[in-house]
Amino acid sequence: MFVSSGTELIDICKKEDITIGEYTIREEMARSELSREDVESRMRKNLHVMLSSSSLAQEKEVKSVSGLIGGDAFRIRKYAENNNTLTGDFMVRAMARAISSSEVNAAMGRIVASPTAGSCGILPAVIISAAERLNKTEDDMINSLFTASGVGIIIAKNATLAGAEGGCQAECGSAAAMGAAAVVEMMGGTPEQALNAAAIVLKNILGLVCDPVAGLVEVPCAKRNIAGAVSALTTADLVMAGVASKIPFDEVVWAMYKVGRQLPTELRETAQGGIAITPTAQKLKDEIFKEKNTL
Ligand code: SF4
Repeated sequence: MFVSSGTELIDICKKEDITIGEYTIREEMARSELSREDVESRMRKNLHVMLSSSSLAQEKEVKSVSGLIGGDAFRIRKYAENNNTLTGDFMVRAMARAISSSEVNAAMGRIVASPTAGSCGILPAVIISAAERLNKTEDDMINSLFTASGVGIIIAKNATLAGAEGGCQAECGSAAAMGAAAVVEMMGGTPEQALNAAAIVLKNILGLVCDPVAGLVEVPCAKRNIAGAVSALTTADLVMAGVASKIPFDEVVWAMYKVGRQLPTELRETAQGGIAITPTAQKLKDEIFKEKNTL
């Protein structure tokens, strides 16, 4: 059975001299009774969906069904092409990838919930961008997805991945933590460093509420995917530079869950608080539902 904490995960990886990704593959083989080839092939299918969702809305404008979001991935991609960005082509391309999957999701397209549909842009953006930058192969990306999965399993066991239960910190925060850990292992970091990255990302997003405008996973969700991807990538660099989290991963996950449970229901996906009840959000909601009722 998969270990229950980050401490146990680090211990077993150290003992067997393996990565979190490798441990997760072995556990998945044991759980599913499938061969390594089959387990990896399933993850390859996920990767291919991620490659598609993270590029589709960059190539053509994709509008959400409600009309609330759309076209930003295309816009950001064009902006990246002018070679005059502040944070550089790498970061701006990663941002475009993150929002592309979110836009595809809001247009009812095919995405991988990683860990949720609302946070589906973060992991593809982080893993694909890092792999491109580091000249990694498709197999390397698959291994990274297993690292991310391993971290997600520990968060799910000890806290939650649902915005309705723990706020957006649990959705976009977990996705970014999973992505940061995955990139650290892709860069040759240790399992301990990977969990340091996950802890730092979660600390930096602690308390983020879930407040979708009109109850739709569009605003502010899509841009939170961009923020999560940027946080994951910059944190991977922090950790590879030798920066560590003062608070261990397990304790940060515990704190994240506790904060999530302390959030009032208005701030947990009910669209009754935060950004969702601003005057503009209310107006947008009225427009969306008025249009629907007249159809
Ligand atoms: S705001 Fe809520 S619905 Fe939107 S991504 Fe965050 S957790 Fe999901």
